[in-house]
Amino acid sequence: MVVVEREIMEVDTLFVGGGIASLSSAIHLASLIKKYNNNFHTAQNKKNLDQITIAVLEKGSSSGAHALSGAVIDISPLKELIPDIFQMNAPLGECVTKESLFLLGKNTHIKSPFIPSFLRNEGNYIVSLSRLNEWLAGIAQKYGVDIFTGFAATEALYKDNKITGVRTGDKGIDADGNRKTNFEPGIDLHAKITALGEGSRGSITKTVIDRLNLDKDKNPQHHVIGIKEVWELPENGFRPGEIIHTTGYPLEGKTYGGGFIYGMADNLLSIGLVIGLDYQDPFLDPYLKFQQFKTHPFIAGLLKNGKLIQYGAKTTPVGGYYSIPELAFDNGLIIGDSANLFISQKHKGIHSAVKSGMLAAEAIFHALLKKDFSRAQLYNYQSALYKSSVGKELYHSRNWHQIFREGLHRAILTGGFKHLIANKVFKSRIISDPDFSSMKKVPDLSHSDSLPKGNTDKLKYDNRLTFKKDTALYYSGTTHEEDQPAHLRILDKNICRNRCTVEYQNPCTRFCPGNVYERIAGQGTEEVDIEVTSSNCLHCKTCDIKDPYNNILWTPPEGGGGPVYTVM
Ligand code: SF4
Repeated sequence: MVVVEREIMEVDTLFVGGGIASLSSAIHLASLIKKYNNNFHTAQNKKNLDQITIAVLEKGSSSGAHALSGAVIDISPLKELIPDIFQMNAPLGECVTKESLFLLGKNTHIKSPFIPSFLRNEGNYIVSLSRLNEWLAGIAQKYGVDIFTGFAATEALYKDNKITGVRTGDKGIDADGNRKTNFEPGIDLHAKITALGEGSRGSITKTVIDRLNLDKDKNPQHHVIGIKEVWELPENGFRPGEIIHTTGYPLEGKTYGGGFIYGMADNLLSIGLVIGLDYQDPFLDPYLKFQQFKTHPFIAGLLKNGKLIQYGAKTTPVGGYYSIPELAFDNGLIIGDSANLFISQKHKGIHSAVKSGMLAAEAIFHALLKKDFSRAQLYNYQSALYKSSVGKELYHSRNWHQIFREGLHRAILTGGFKHLIANKVFKSRIISDPDFSSMKKVPDLSHSDSLPKGNTDKLKYDNRLTFKKDTALYYSGTTHEEDQPAHLRILDKNICRNRCTVEYQNPCTRFCPGNVYERIAGQGTEEVDIEVTSSNCLHCKTCDIKDPYNNILWTPPEGGGGPVYTVM
Protein backbone atom coordinates (compact mmCIF):
# COMPACT_ATOMS: atom_id res chain seq x y z
CA MET A 1 0.00 0.00 0.00
CA VAL A 2 1.34 3.42 -0.93
CA VAL A 3 1.57 5.74 2.04
CA VAL A 4 0.31 9.23 1.21
CA GLU A 5 2.15 12.15 2.74
CA ARG A 6 -0.47 14.68 3.71
CA GLU A 7 -0.13 18.29 4.63
CA ILE A 8 -1.52 19.05 8.06
CA MET A 9 -3.12 22.39 8.67
CA GLU A 10 -4.00 23.52 12.19
CA VAL A 11 -6.90 25.89 12.76
CA ASP A 12 -8.80 26.89 15.86
CA THR A 13 -12.31 26.58 14.45
CA LEU A 14 -13.20 24.69 11.31
CA PHE A 15 -16.57 24.92 9.61
CA VAL A 16 -17.32 21.95 7.39
CA GLY A 17 -19.66 23.23 4.67
CA GLY A 18 -19.77 26.80 3.48
CA GLY A 19 -23.51 27.47 3.55
CA ILE A 20 -25.53 30.04 5.43
CA ALA A 21 -25.18 28.45 8.89
CA SER A 22 -21.40 28.15 8.69
CA LEU A 23 -20.86 31.60 7.23
CA SER A 24 -23.17 33.24 9.80
CA SER A 25 -21.32 31.42 12.54
CA ALA A 26 -17.89 32.31 11.20
CA ILE A 27 -18.87 36.00 10.84
CA HIS A 28 -20.34 36.16 14.33
CA LEU A 29 -17.37 34.40 15.89
CA ALA A 30 -14.89 36.67 14.10
CA SER A 31 -16.89 39.71 15.18
CA LEU A 32 -17.02 38.57 18.83
CA ILE A 33 -13.27 38.03 18.79
CA LYS A 34 -12.69 41.42 17.21
CA LYS A 35 -14.83 43.16 19.84
CA TYR A 36 -13.11 41.24 22.59
CA ASN A 37 -9.67 42.16 21.33
CA ASN A 38 -10.68 45.81 20.99
CA ASN A 39 -12.28 46.04 24.41
CA PHE A 40 -9.93 43.97 26.50
CA HIS A 41 -6.62 45.45 25.64
CA THR A 42 -4.55 44.41 28.59
CA ALA A 43 -1.60 42.51 27.25
CA GLN A 44 -2.62 39.31 28.97
CA ASN A 45 -6.19 39.27 27.76
CA LYS A 46 -5.39 40.35 24.26
CA LYS A 47 -2.97 37.52 23.81
CA ASN A 48 -5.75 35.04 24.39
CA LEU A 49 -7.66 35.50 21.15
CA ASP A 50 -5.40 37.51 18.88
CA GLN A 51 -4.21 34.66 16.75
CA ILE A 52 -7.44 32.69 16.44
CA THR A 53 -7.89 31.13 13.01
CA ILE A 54 -11.27 30.33 11.47
CA ALA A 55 -11.59 28.26 8.32
CA VAL A 56 -14.55 27.22 6.17
CA LEU A 57 -14.47 24.27 3.76
CA GLU A 58 -16.82 24.49 0.78
CA LYS A 59 -17.11 21.63 -1.69
CA GLY A 60 -18.63 23.81 -4.44
CA SER A 61 -16.46 25.57 -6.97
CA SER A 62 -17.42 28.91 -5.42
CA SER A 63 -19.37 30.15 -2.40
CA GLY A 64 -23.08 29.74 -3.10
CA ALA A 65 -22.60 27.37 -6.05
CA HIS A 66 -24.44 24.59 -4.18
CA ALA A 67 -26.94 26.80 -2.34
CA LEU A 68 -30.55 26.34 -3.37
CA SER A 69 -33.76 27.17 -1.58
CA GLY A 70 -37.21 28.64 -2.38
CA ALA A 71 -36.38 31.12 -0.89
CA VAL A 72 -38.43 33.36 1.34
CA ILE A 73 -36.63 34.32 4.49
CA ASP A 74 -37.36 35.87 7.83
CA ILE A 75 -34.42 38.24 8.03
CA SER A 76 -34.56 38.94 11.81
CA PRO A 77 -31.51 36.81 12.69
CA LEU A 78 -29.61 38.23 9.70
CA LYS A 79 -30.26 41.74 11.05
CA GLU A 80 -28.94 40.60 14.42
CA LEU A 81 -25.85 39.24 12.71
CA ILE A 82 -25.25 42.28 10.52
CA PRO A 83 -27.19 45.23 11.97
CA ASP A 84 -26.49 47.54 9.02
CA ILE A 85 -27.40 44.90 6.46
CA PHE A 86 -29.55 47.32 4.43
CA GLN A 87 -26.83 49.96 4.21
CA MET A 88 -24.43 47.26 3.08
CA ASN A 89 -26.55 46.42 0.04
CA ALA A 90 -27.10 42.80 0.99
CA PRO A 91 -28.86 40.89 -1.80
CA LEU A 92 -32.12 40.67 0.11
CA GLY A 93 -34.24 40.68 -3.00
CA GLU A 94 -37.85 41.69 -2.69
CA CYS A 95 -39.98 42.26 0.39
CA VAL A 96 -43.18 40.20 0.18
CA THR A 97 -46.09 42.44 -0.81
CA LYS A 98 -48.80 40.04 -1.95
CA GLU A 99 -49.57 36.45 -1.12
CA SER A 100 -52.18 33.88 -2.07
CA LEU A 101 -52.92 30.19 -1.71
CA PHE A 102 -54.53 28.12 -4.46
CA LEU A 103 -56.01 24.65 -4.40
CA LEU A 104 -55.27 23.03 -7.75
CA GLY A 105 -57.34 20.35 -9.44
CA LYS A 106 -56.11 18.90 -12.72
CA ASN A 107 -57.54 21.82 -14.69
CA THR A 108 -58.97 24.02 -11.96
CA HIS A 109 -57.62 26.51 -9.47
CA ILE A 110 -59.54 27.84 -6.51
CA LYS A 111 -58.17 30.69 -4.46
CA SER A 112 -58.33 30.10 -0.73
CA PRO A 113 -60.25 32.84 1.10
CA PHE A 114 -57.55 32.81 3.78
CA ILE A 115 -53.93 31.88 4.24
CA PRO A 116 -53.04 30.00 7.44
CA SER A 117 -50.90 32.14 9.71
CA PHE A 118 -47.93 29.76 9.49
CA LEU A 119 -47.75 30.25 5.72
CA ARG A 120 -47.91 34.04 5.78
CA ASN A 121 -44.85 36.03 4.90
CA GLU A 122 -45.49 39.67 5.74
CA GLY A 123 -42.11 41.32 6.32
CA ASN A 124 -40.16 38.43 4.80
CA TYR A 125 -37.93 38.68 1.74
CA ILE A 126 -37.71 36.68 -1.47
CA VAL A 127 -34.03 36.01 -2.03
CA SER A 128 -31.66 34.00 -4.12
CA LEU A 129 -29.89 31.83 -1.57
CA SER A 130 -26.88 31.37 -3.81
CA ARG A 131 -26.44 35.15 -4.08
CA LEU A 132 -26.93 35.66 -0.33
CA ASN A 133 -24.45 32.87 0.35
CA GLU A 134 -21.86 34.47 -1.92
CA TRP A 135 -22.38 37.85 -0.27
CA LEU A 136 -21.96 36.43 3.24
CA ALA A 137 -18.78 34.68 2.14
CA GLY A 138 -17.39 38.10 1.12
CA ILE A 139 -18.24 39.52 4.57
CA ALA A 140 -16.62 36.55 6.31
CA GLN A 141 -13.45 37.04 4.28
CA LYS A 142 -13.33 40.69 5.28
CA TYR A 143 -13.30 39.49 8.89
CA GLY A 144 -10.28 37.33 8.09
CA VAL A 145 -12.07 33.99 7.78
CA ASP A 146 -10.28 31.61 5.39
CA ILE A 147 -12.73 30.09 2.92
CA PHE A 148 -11.45 27.14 0.94
CA THR A 149 -13.75 26.56 -2.02
CA GLY A 150 -13.50 23.43 -4.13
CA PHE A 151 -12.46 21.31 -1.15
CA ALA A 152 -14.75 18.52 -0.01
CA ALA A 153 -14.36 16.96 3.41
CA THR A 154 -14.34 13.21 2.89
CA GLU A 155 -13.58 11.86 6.33
CA ALA A 156 -13.83 12.97 9.95
CA LEU A 157 -10.65 12.55 11.97
CA TYR A 158 -10.72 11.34 15.56
CA LYS A 159 -8.46 10.82 18.51
CA ASP A 160 -9.78 8.76 21.41
CA ASN A 161 -13.22 8.90 19.79
CA LYS A 162 -13.19 12.69 19.83
CA ILE A 163 -13.34 14.55 16.54
CA THR A 164 -10.11 16.38 15.72
CA GLY A 165 -10.93 17.72 12.27
CA VAL A 166 -11.48 16.41 8.77
CA ARG A 167 -9.53 15.14 5.78
CA THR A 168 -10.26 16.64 2.38
CA GLY A 169 -10.52 14.43 -0.68
CA ASP A 170 -7.55 13.56 -2.82
CA LYS A 171 -7.59 15.18 -6.25
CA GLY A 172 -6.32 13.59 -9.44
CA ILE A 173 -7.41 9.96 -8.90
CA ASP A 174 -8.74 8.13 -11.94
CA ALA A 175 -11.89 6.02 -12.14
CA ASP A 176 -9.93 2.88 -11.20
CA GLY A 177 -8.36 4.49 -8.16
CA ASN A 178 -4.93 5.17 -9.73
CA ARG A 179 -3.08 8.44 -9.38
CA LYS A 180 -3.09 10.70 -12.39
CA THR A 181 -0.28 13.11 -13.19
CA ASN A 182 -2.16 15.93 -11.45
CA PHE A 183 -2.55 13.95 -8.21
CA GLU A 184 -2.77 16.09 -5.08
CA PRO A 185 -3.32 14.42 -1.74
CA GLY A 186 -6.07 15.77 0.50
CA ILE A 187 -5.14 17.85 3.51
CA ASP A 188 -5.73 16.95 7.15
CA LEU A 189 -7.32 19.94 8.81
CA HIS A 190 -6.90 19.71 12.55
CA ALA A 191 -9.16 21.92 14.62
CA LYS A 192 -9.84 22.59 18.25
CA ILE A 193 -13.51 22.82 17.31
CA THR A 194 -15.14 21.33 14.24
CA ALA A 195 -18.56 22.75 13.40
CA LEU A 196 -20.59 20.65 10.98
CA GLY A 197 -22.71 22.84 8.71
CA GLU A 198 -22.93 20.76 5.56
CA GLY A 199 -26.63 21.30 4.95
CA SER A 200 -29.18 18.58 4.40
CA ARG A 201 -27.96 15.00 4.89
CA GLY A 202 -24.36 16.05 5.39
CA SER A 203 -22.07 13.17 4.50
CA ILE A 204 -19.58 13.85 7.32
CA THR A 205 -22.35 14.76 9.75
CA LYS A 206 -24.06 11.44 9.07
CA THR A 207 -20.95 9.47 10.00
CA VAL A 208 -20.30 11.57 13.12
CA ILE A 209 -23.90 11.13 14.30
CA ASP A 210 -23.59 7.36 13.80
CA ARG A 211 -20.22 7.01 15.42
CA LEU A 212 -21.03 9.15 18.47
CA ASN A 213 -24.59 7.85 18.68
CA LEU A 214 -25.96 11.38 18.64
CA ASP A 215 -29.42 10.31 17.44
CA LYS A 216 -30.05 7.76 20.17
CA ASP A 217 -33.77 7.66 21.04
CA LYS A 218 -34.59 10.32 18.43
CA ASN A 219 -37.11 10.08 15.62
CA PRO A 220 -35.59 9.25 12.25
CA GLN A 221 -34.98 12.22 10.04
CA HIS A 222 -37.48 13.05 7.29
CA HIS A 223 -36.81 15.00 4.15
CA VAL A 224 -38.57 16.66 1.29
CA ILE A 225 -37.13 17.09 -2.17
CA GLY A 226 -37.55 20.49 -3.77
CA ILE A 227 -37.34 20.75 -7.54
CA LYS A 228 -36.87 24.32 -8.62
CA GLU A 229 -36.47 26.44 -11.71
CA VAL A 230 -35.84 30.14 -12.17
CA TRP A 231 -37.49 31.73 -15.19
CA GLU A 232 -37.02 35.05 -16.86
CA LEU A 233 -40.32 36.64 -17.84
CA PRO A 234 -41.16 39.53 -20.13
CA GLU A 235 -41.31 43.00 -18.54
CA ASN A 236 -44.10 43.14 -15.91
CA GLY A 237 -44.65 39.39 -16.25
CA PHE A 238 -45.08 38.66 -12.55
CA ARG A 239 -44.97 41.14 -9.73
CA PRO A 240 -41.71 41.16 -7.72
CA GLY A 241 -42.59 40.47 -4.10
CA GLU A 242 -45.65 38.36 -4.95
CA ILE A 243 -45.98 34.81 -3.61
CA ILE A 244 -48.31 32.02 -4.66
CA HIS A 245 -48.55 28.80 -2.66
CA THR A 246 -50.33 25.81 -4.15
CA THR A 247 -51.68 22.55 -2.82
CA GLY A 248 -53.27 19.68 -4.73
CA TYR A 249 -52.34 18.89 -8.35
CA PRO A 250 -50.13 17.18 -9.36
CA LEU A 251 -49.76 15.42 -5.98
CA GLU A 252 -52.35 12.91 -4.90
CA GLY A 253 -53.84 13.12 -1.42
CA LYS A 254 -51.42 10.80 0.37
CA THR A 255 -48.27 12.62 -0.68
CA TYR A 256 -46.91 15.51 1.37
CA GLY A 257 -45.99 18.61 -0.54
CA GLY A 258 -47.04 21.61 -2.58
CA GLY A 259 -45.92 24.20 -5.06
CA PHE A 260 -44.50 27.70 -4.81
CA ILE A 261 -44.09 30.67 -7.10
CA TYR A 262 -42.11 33.72 -6.01
CA GLY A 263 -41.69 36.97 -7.91
CA MET A 264 -38.08 38.14 -7.83
CA ALA A 265 -36.46 41.34 -9.04
CA ASP A 266 -35.28 41.77 -12.65
CA ASN A 267 -38.33 39.93 -14.06
CA LEU A 268 -37.19 36.65 -12.55
CA LEU A 269 -39.61 34.11 -11.18
CA SER A 270 -38.76 31.26 -8.87
CA ILE A 271 -41.02 28.22 -9.22
CA GLY A 272 -40.81 24.88 -7.48
CA LEU A 273 -42.52 21.80 -6.17
CA VAL A 274 -41.76 20.21 -2.81
CA ILE A 275 -42.49 16.52 -2.21
CA GLY A 276 -42.13 14.57 1.04
CA LEU A 277 -39.66 11.72 0.62
CA ASP A 278 -41.88 9.53 2.74
CA TYR A 279 -44.09 9.06 -0.31
CA GLN A 280 -45.40 5.58 -0.99
CA ASP A 281 -45.75 5.33 -4.76
CA PRO A 282 -42.75 3.46 -6.21
CA PHE A 283 -43.46 5.03 -9.61
CA LEU A 284 -43.43 8.60 -8.41
CA ASP A 285 -40.90 10.77 -10.21
CA PRO A 286 -40.57 14.14 -8.43
CA TYR A 287 -39.03 15.76 -11.50
CA LEU A 288 -41.88 14.57 -13.70
CA LYS A 289 -44.39 15.83 -11.12
CA PHE A 290 -42.77 19.24 -11.28
CA GLN A 291 -42.99 19.29 -15.06
CA GLN A 292 -46.67 18.30 -14.80
CA PHE A 293 -47.17 21.12 -12.28
CA LYS A 294 -46.00 23.63 -14.89
CA THR A 295 -48.50 22.33 -17.44
CA HIS A 296 -51.45 23.16 -15.20
CA PRO A 297 -53.31 25.90 -17.10
CA PHE A 298 -53.03 28.35 -14.22
CA ILE A 299 -49.28 27.83 -13.81
CA ALA A 300 -48.56 27.63 -17.55
CA GLY A 301 -50.30 31.00 -17.92
CA LEU A 302 -47.89 32.56 -15.41
CA LEU A 303 -44.88 31.27 -17.36
CA LYS A 304 -46.17 32.34 -20.75
CA ASN A 305 -43.48 33.92 -22.96
CA GLY A 306 -40.86 33.29 -20.29
CA LYS A 307 -37.73 31.22 -20.53
CA LEU A 308 -35.96 28.83 -18.22
CA ILE A 309 -32.65 30.15 -16.96
CA GLN A 310 -31.68 27.83 -14.10
CA TYR A 311 -32.68 24.41 -12.73
CA GLY A 312 -31.77 22.56 -9.56
CA ALA A 313 -32.91 20.22 -6.82
CA LYS A 314 -32.17 19.79 -3.16
CA THR A 315 -33.48 17.96 -0.14
CA THR A 316 -34.46 19.67 3.09
CA PRO A 317 -34.78 18.06 6.53
CA VAL A 318 -38.35 18.33 7.85
CA GLY A 319 -38.40 15.78 10.67
CA GLY A 320 -38.53 18.55 13.25
CA TYR A 321 -37.98 18.78 16.97
CA TYR A 322 -37.90 15.08 17.81
CA SER A 323 -35.44 14.35 15.00
CA ILE A 324 -32.81 16.80 16.17
CA PRO A 325 -29.66 14.91 17.19
CA GLU A 326 -27.46 15.90 20.11
CA LEU A 327 -25.91 19.09 18.80
CA ALA A 328 -22.77 19.28 20.92
CA PHE A 329 -20.04 16.74 21.53
CA ASP A 330 -16.39 16.87 22.53
CA ASN A 331 -14.59 19.28 20.15
CA GLY A 332 -17.58 19.76 17.90
CA LEU A 333 -21.11 20.80 17.18
CA ILE A 334 -23.75 20.64 14.44
CA ILE A 335 -25.53 23.66 12.97
CA GLY A 336 -28.22 24.58 10.41
CA ASP A 337 -29.84 21.98 8.17
CA SER A 338 -27.25 19.40 9.22
CA ALA A 339 -28.74 19.76 12.70
CA ASN A 340 -32.29 19.38 11.31
CA LEU A 341 -33.36 22.80 12.52
CA PHE A 342 -35.72 23.44 9.63
CA ILE A 343 -39.17 24.66 10.71
CA SER A 344 -41.38 22.36 8.68
CA GLN A 345 -44.65 24.08 9.60
CA LYS A 346 -43.47 27.35 8.04
CA HIS A 347 -41.28 25.65 5.52
CA LYS A 348 -38.41 27.88 6.49
CA GLY A 349 -34.91 27.09 7.62
CA ILE A 350 -32.63 29.92 6.58
CA HIS A 351 -33.39 32.04 9.64
CA SER A 352 -32.87 29.04 11.92
CA ALA A 353 -29.58 28.28 10.15
CA VAL A 354 -28.39 31.85 10.81
CA LYS A 355 -29.56 31.77 14.42
CA SER A 356 -28.01 28.39 15.15
CA GLY A 357 -24.76 29.58 13.59
CA MET A 358 -24.74 32.64 15.82
CA LEU A 359 -25.50 30.69 18.98
CA ALA A 360 -22.84 28.17 18.07
CA ALA A 361 -20.38 31.05 17.59
CA GLU A 362 -21.13 32.34 21.09
CA ALA A 363 -20.49 28.90 22.60
CA ILE A 364 -17.30 28.53 20.54
CA PHE A 365 -16.11 31.98 21.61
CA HIS A 366 -16.45 31.09 25.31
CA ALA A 367 -14.86 27.70 24.71
CA LEU A 368 -11.87 29.44 23.08
CA LEU A 369 -11.61 31.86 25.99
CA LYS A 370 -11.65 29.06 28.51
CA LYS A 371 -9.63 26.70 26.31
CA ASP A 372 -12.24 24.11 27.10
CA PHE A 373 -13.63 22.25 24.07
CA SER A 374 -15.50 19.59 25.96
CA ARG A 375 -19.08 18.61 25.30
CA ALA A 376 -20.06 20.15 28.63
CA GLN A 377 -18.73 23.55 27.53
CA LEU A 378 -20.10 23.38 23.98
CA TYR A 379 -23.46 22.19 25.30
CA ASN A 380 -24.15 25.88 26.01
CA TYR A 381 -24.96 26.08 22.31
CA GLN A 382 -27.62 23.39 22.51
CA SER A 383 -29.20 24.89 25.65
CA ALA A 384 -29.25 28.37 24.13
CA LEU A 385 -30.74 27.07 20.90
CA TYR A 386 -33.63 25.31 22.62
CA LYS A 387 -34.35 28.47 24.64
CA SER A 388 -34.17 30.74 21.59
CA SER A 389 -36.97 31.85 19.29
CA VAL A 390 -35.93 29.07 16.90
CA GLY A 391 -36.13 26.47 19.68
CA LYS A 392 -39.63 27.69 20.48
CA GLU A 393 -40.70 27.48 16.83
CA LEU A 394 -39.31 23.97 16.62
CA TYR A 395 -41.16 22.91 19.74
CA HIS A 396 -44.40 24.54 18.66
CA SER A 397 -44.38 22.58 15.40
CA ARG A 398 -42.83 19.46 16.92
CA ASN A 399 -45.11 16.85 15.27
CA TRP A 400 -45.92 18.80 12.15
CA HIS A 401 -44.45 16.57 9.51
CA GLN A 402 -45.44 13.39 11.30
CA ILE A 403 -49.10 14.52 11.20
CA PHE A 404 -48.99 15.86 7.68
CA ARG A 405 -46.90 13.13 6.13
CA GLU A 406 -49.90 11.48 4.56
CA GLY A 407 -51.15 14.66 3.02
CA LEU A 408 -53.17 17.65 4.02
CA HIS A 409 -56.61 16.10 3.78
CA ARG A 410 -55.84 13.20 6.06
CA ALA A 411 -54.25 15.53 8.59
CA ILE A 412 -57.38 17.62 8.72
CA LEU A 413 -59.47 14.51 9.36
CA THR A 414 -57.05 13.17 11.95
CA GLY A 415 -56.59 16.15 14.10
CA GLY A 416 -58.93 18.90 13.14
CA PHE A 417 -57.13 21.76 11.50
CA LYS A 418 -58.01 24.35 14.06
CA HIS A 419 -56.95 22.24 17.02
CA LEU A 420 -53.85 21.12 15.25
CA ILE A 421 -52.73 24.65 14.65
CA ALA A 422 -53.57 25.56 18.21
CA ASN A 423 -51.28 22.70 19.16
CA LYS A 424 -53.90 21.16 21.39
CA VAL A 425 -53.69 17.75 19.80
CA PHE A 426 -50.64 15.51 19.62
CA LYS A 427 -48.72 17.15 22.43
CA SER A 428 -46.32 14.31 22.85
CA ARG A 429 -43.97 12.80 20.34
CA ILE A 430 -45.35 10.92 17.36
CA ILE A 431 -42.97 8.14 16.39
CA SER A 432 -42.27 7.79 12.67
CA ASP A 433 -40.43 5.46 10.30
CA PRO A 434 -37.53 6.43 8.05
CA ASP A 435 -38.33 7.76 4.58
CA PHE A 436 -36.73 4.82 2.79
CA SER A 437 -39.20 2.42 4.42
CA SER A 438 -42.40 4.10 3.23
CA MET A 439 -42.39 2.97 -0.40
CA LYS A 440 -44.86 0.25 -1.36
CA LYS A 441 -43.67 -2.75 -3.29
CA VAL A 442 -45.03 -2.97 -6.82
CA PRO A 443 -46.57 -6.44 -6.33
CA ASP A 444 -48.42 -5.08 -3.28
CA LEU A 445 -50.12 -2.32 -5.24
CA SER A 446 -53.69 -3.44 -5.74
CA HIS A 447 -56.28 -2.17 -8.18
CA SER A 448 -58.09 -0.58 -5.30
CA ASP A 449 -54.95 1.19 -4.19
CA SER A 450 -55.48 4.91 -4.44
CA LEU A 451 -51.89 5.45 -5.54
CA PRO A 452 -51.96 6.70 -9.11
CA LYS A 453 -48.71 4.96 -10.10
CA GLY A 454 -47.36 8.44 -10.73
CA ASN A 455 -45.10 7.82 -13.66
CA THR A 456 -47.81 6.40 -15.88
CA ASP A 457 -49.25 9.85 -16.49
CA LYS A 458 -46.90 10.62 -19.37
CA LEU A 459 -45.93 14.05 -20.51
CA LYS A 460 -44.86 15.41 -23.83
CA TYR A 461 -41.80 17.61 -23.41
CA ASP A 462 -42.01 20.69 -25.59
CA ASN A 463 -38.65 22.30 -24.72
CA ARG A 464 -40.44 25.52 -23.97
CA LEU A 465 -42.50 24.86 -20.87
CA THR A 466 -41.38 21.33 -20.11
CA PHE A 467 -37.97 19.76 -20.49
CA LYS A 468 -36.47 16.31 -20.27
CA LYS A 469 -34.19 15.76 -17.29
CA ASP A 470 -31.11 15.73 -19.48
CA THR A 471 -32.02 19.10 -20.95
CA ALA A 472 -32.80 20.61 -17.55
CA LEU A 473 -29.45 19.42 -16.22
CA TYR A 474 -27.72 21.76 -18.61
CA TYR A 475 -29.41 24.63 -16.72
CA SER A 476 -27.98 23.44 -13.39
CA GLY A 477 -24.42 23.90 -14.64
CA THR A 478 -23.46 20.63 -13.00
CA THR A 479 -20.09 19.24 -14.02
CA HIS A 480 -17.73 16.72 -12.51
CA GLU A 481 -14.30 15.51 -13.48
CA GLU A 482 -15.28 12.45 -15.56
CA ASP A 483 -12.23 10.33 -14.78
CA GLN A 484 -12.60 9.91 -11.02
CA PRO A 485 -13.93 7.16 -8.75
CA ALA A 486 -17.74 7.04 -8.70
CA HIS A 487 -18.99 9.14 -5.80
CA LEU A 488 -22.35 7.36 -5.83
CA ARG A 489 -21.81 3.91 -4.46
CA ILE A 490 -24.34 1.15 -4.95
CA LEU A 491 -23.44 -1.07 -2.05
CA ASP A 492 -24.81 -4.33 -3.49
CA LYS A 493 -25.63 -4.38 -7.20
CA ASN A 494 -27.22 -7.80 -6.85
CA ILE A 495 -30.03 -6.16 -4.90
CA CYS A 496 -30.69 -3.85 -7.86
CA ARG A 497 -30.62 -6.69 -10.37
CA ASN A 498 -32.47 -9.38 -8.51
CA ARG A 499 -34.72 -7.87 -5.88
CA CYS A 500 -35.35 -4.23 -6.64
CA THR A 501 -36.17 -4.94 -10.26
CA VAL A 502 -39.10 -7.04 -9.08
CA GLU A 503 -40.08 -5.37 -5.82
CA TYR A 504 -39.82 -1.66 -6.70
CA GLN A 505 -38.82 -1.65 -10.37
CA ASN A 506 -35.68 0.37 -9.62
CA PRO A 507 -37.19 3.62 -8.32
CA CYS A 508 -33.75 5.31 -8.35
CA THR A 509 -34.31 5.76 -12.08
CA ARG A 510 -37.29 7.93 -11.16
CA PHE A 511 -36.56 9.67 -7.86
CA CYS A 512 -33.19 11.04 -8.99
CA PRO A 513 -33.68 14.51 -10.50
CA GLY A 514 -30.31 14.27 -12.23
CA ASN A 515 -30.95 11.25 -14.44
CA VAL A 516 -27.99 9.54 -12.82
CA TYR A 517 -29.47 6.02 -12.68
CA GLU A 518 -30.58 4.21 -15.77
CA ARG A 519 -31.90 0.70 -16.30
CA ILE A 520 -29.96 -1.06 -19.00
CA ALA A 521 -29.96 -4.62 -20.33
CA GLY A 522 -27.78 -6.78 -18.11
CA GLN A 523 -25.01 -9.04 -19.28
CA GLY A 524 -24.97 -12.82 -18.99
CA THR A 525 -27.81 -14.14 -16.87
CA GLU A 526 -28.83 -10.72 -15.57
CA GLU A 527 -31.78 -9.19 -17.36
CA VAL A 528 -31.39 -5.74 -15.93
CA ASP A 529 -28.50 -3.69 -14.69
CA ILE A 530 -28.22 -0.15 -13.36
CA GLU A 531 -25.86 2.25 -15.03
CA VAL A 532 -24.71 5.18 -12.92
CA THR A 533 -23.75 8.47 -14.58
CA SER A 534 -22.28 10.21 -11.54
CA SER A 535 -21.29 13.29 -13.49
CA ASN A 536 -24.99 14.30 -13.72
CA CYS A 537 -25.36 14.50 -9.95
CA LEU A 538 -26.97 17.59 -8.41
CA HIS A 539 -25.86 16.70 -4.86
CA CYS A 540 -29.48 16.66 -3.69
CA LYS A 541 -28.92 13.44 -1.62
CA THR A 542 -32.34 11.97 -2.49
CA CYS A 543 -30.80 8.61 -3.41
CA ASP A 544 -28.96 8.43 -0.09
CA ILE A 545 -32.30 8.99 1.69
CA LYS A 546 -34.96 7.26 -0.39
CA ASP A 547 -33.47 4.06 -1.76
CA PRO A 548 -35.77 1.40 -0.28
CA TYR A 549 -32.87 -0.92 0.60
CA ASN A 550 -30.60 1.87 1.82
CA ASN A 551 -28.33 0.58 -0.88
CA ILE A 552 -26.96 3.87 -2.23
CA LEU A 553 -24.25 5.83 -0.47
CA TRP A 554 -23.59 9.40 -1.53
CA THR A 555 -19.97 10.42 -0.97
CA PRO A 556 -18.35 13.71 -1.96
CA PRO A 557 -16.83 13.75 -5.44
CA GLU A 558 -13.59 15.54 -6.18
CA GLY A 559 -13.89 19.06 -4.76
CA GLY A 560 -15.32 21.69 -7.07
CA GLY A 561 -17.69 19.27 -8.83
CA GLY A 562 -21.45 19.63 -8.78
CA PRO A 563 -23.97 22.27 -9.78
CA VAL A 564 -23.13 25.91 -10.25
CA TYR A 565 -26.13 27.86 -8.99
CA THR A 566 -26.03 31.62 -9.33
CA VAL A 567 -29.67 32.73 -8.85
CA MET A 568 -31.19 29.79 -6.94
FE1 SF4 B 1 -29.59 13.56 -6.15
FE2 SF4 B 1 -28.53 11.11 -5.81
FE3 SF4 B 1 -29.45 11.86 -8.19
FE4 SF4 B 1 -27.21 12.97 -7.22
S1 SF4 B 1 -27.52 10.82 -7.76
S2 SF4 B 1 -28.92 14.04 -8.22
S3 SF4 B 1 -27.68 13.05 -5.03
S4 SF4 B 1 -30.65 11.56 -6.32
